[in-house]
Amino acid sequence: MSAIEKVSCLIIGSGPAGYTAAIYASRANLQPVLYQGIQPGGQLTITTEVENYPGYPDGVQGPEMMVDFEKQAKRMGADIRYGLATKVDFSGDVHKVWIDEEKEMHADTVIIATGASAKWLGLESEQRLNGFGVSACAVCDGFFFKGKEVAIVGAGDTAAEEAHYLSKLCSTVYMFIRRGEMRASKVMQDRVKNTPNIKIYWNTDTDEILGKDRVEAVRIKNNQTGVASEIPISGFFVAIGHQPNSDIFKGLIDMDDAGYIKTTPGTSKTNVEGVFACGDVQDKNYRQAITAAGSGCMAAIDAERYLAAKGH
Ligand code: NDP
Repeated sequence: MSAIEKVSCLIIGSGPAGYTAAIYASRANLQPVLYQGIQPGGQLTITTEVENYPGYPDGVQGPEMMVDFEKQAKRMGADIRYGLATKVDFSGDVHKVWIDEEKEMHADTVIIATGASAKWLGLESEQRLNGFGVSACAVCDGFFFKGKEVAIVGAGDTAAEEAHYLSKLCSTVYMFIRRGEMRASKVMQDRVKNTPNIKIYWNTDTDEILGKDRVEAVRIKNNQTGVASEIPISGFFVAIGHQPNSDIFKGLIDMDDAGYIKTTPGTSKTNVEGVFACGDVQDKNYRQAITAAGSGCMAAIDAERYLAAKGH
């Protein structure tokens, strides 16, 4: 059993939100400790080119940008560590967080920046062929399917945006939509419907992705008629939304039905005093590196003010 460690500011998560919180908290002399979680750098580490983050006029690779963020946080004095928060107890004045099920941290303030993860259909073949033609990020992996036939499942703005992106690279994009309508905004729907090489299959479920070592085809079923068919493809993209990484906080902090942590509008404050949330774990609308970074800054400032008010 390791000894309990006491800190004034504990940051959980290492995407743009967590690292920005660490930069600001360090500069405010809160001596933050940041645990990076299972995927140091977060979702941006599975992206390629980022062109919309201000300050990089020529664009930057997602993983490289996260290394820059980490370096900057370290230079400011943040204590960045490997480790996954596995349990929390927010019932008292001092917030308790367990790392890797053993190390116990006691923190006056906690900044939750655990992000979100892509949702999967849950098929065995989807897992087996992940990285071998199955992907949850068209922008990251579309390039590998240049000139080929691919499929995408989903009907929200992400799926519409990614289908359109793929249509510029691939010969045909089959789009599988489980209902008779799309959830995406009208403008995105129109864009998809007016792109000749996007072929929409309505009321369609994915039965199985086929292929031994890589994706070769997909078996789909019309959920109205029950008719099944197979389509040869090289790539299969899943774009059915994201899941906030908030499981360990369930029942301990207010969240919406989808598991996004609720914050007081205009702040990073959760319903638990001294606990703040930033980045994708509390944002299902914008989900951008720049908005995550901005909210990480807010969380550090909120934490600093909370501590000052408590006389720390
Ligand atoms: P959404 O939750 O909006 O959409 C998910 C889609 O996936 C839905 O159409 C849903 O179908 C479908 N789906 C879910 N589970 C399954 C399944 N098991 N099988 C088949 N289909 C499934 O997620 P998005 O990631 O698209 O968007 C999230 C938020 O981000 C939204 O608010 C969106 O507007 C926003 N966004 C905005 C963009 C922009 O403005 N440029 C770009 C991207 C996202 P069903 O409709 O039947 O439930």
